Amino acid sequence: MTEKLLIDSFDKNYSEILKNIEIAAKKAGKKPEDIILLAATKTVDSAIINHAIESGIKYTGDNKVQELLQKEADLIPVIKHFIGHLQTNKVKDIITRVTMIESVDSIKLAKEISKQALKHNQTMDILLEINIGNEESKHGFLYENVLENVREIASLEGIKIKGLMAIPPICEKMEENRKYFQKMYKLFIDIGSQNIDNVNMEYLSMGMSDDYMIAIEEGANIIRLGTALFGKRVYN
Ligand SMILES: *Cc1c(COP(=O)(O)O)cnc(C)c1O
Repeated sequence: MTEKLLIDSFDKNYSEILKNIEIAAKKAGKKPEDIILLAATKTVDSAIINHAIESGIKYTGDNKVQELLQKEADLIPVIKHFIGHLQTNKVKDIITRVTMIESVDSIKLAKEISKQALKHNQTMDILLEINIGNEESKHGFLYENVLENVREIASLEGIKIKGLMAIPPICEKMEENRKYFQKMYKLFIDIGSQNIDNVNMEYLSMGMSDDYMIAIEEGANIIRLGTALFGKRVYN
């Protein structure tokens, strides 16, 4: 597709998504501005991402370190989250480049983020990724032992636990994900009610292109959208 077509299609998608967010937020008793719309930008050209930012997108999410670093110089300023599986040896490459790492999926990774953050005299906000569908193919903490992991990670310096993130199993019908979102919301509230030092359950990041309205209805306040905003991804 030409850049003009991609931009037109983004504009159309974006205004529709904003309306949908408003509807779903209302159902959840929230205001649309309570919901963070994060653009998942993998494979999207910098020119299109910049257009999205100029149109009002305030958050972007990368899931590959290399892609994030490659595009960095071309992008206008935006709040960046890291949302993909992060190898411990790459933490040092992004520690000063993002404001939040949503995809913390092991104690080992949390420890490395802590170490690198301290080295740079900073504090990194993190979300803990939960493998909510208990899938072998996915990363993340298991539902059953999240709490003990939260306690251990909370004791590390240089990081702040700000909430939870999940990618539910691929379902035939989007309604099937509702039960996973509900489970996540329960966990989010449970952990918050424990009043653990250095743990603030502020953000629940769940919901992607096919199911973001359901996720918002069930308590998400960060949704991560790629396809719904930019169209089908083309991998080179
Ligand atoms: C790609 C990606 C998304 C967005 O997926 P879509 O289905 O295209 O909206 C969300 N979260 C993560 C972690 C991703 O890698």
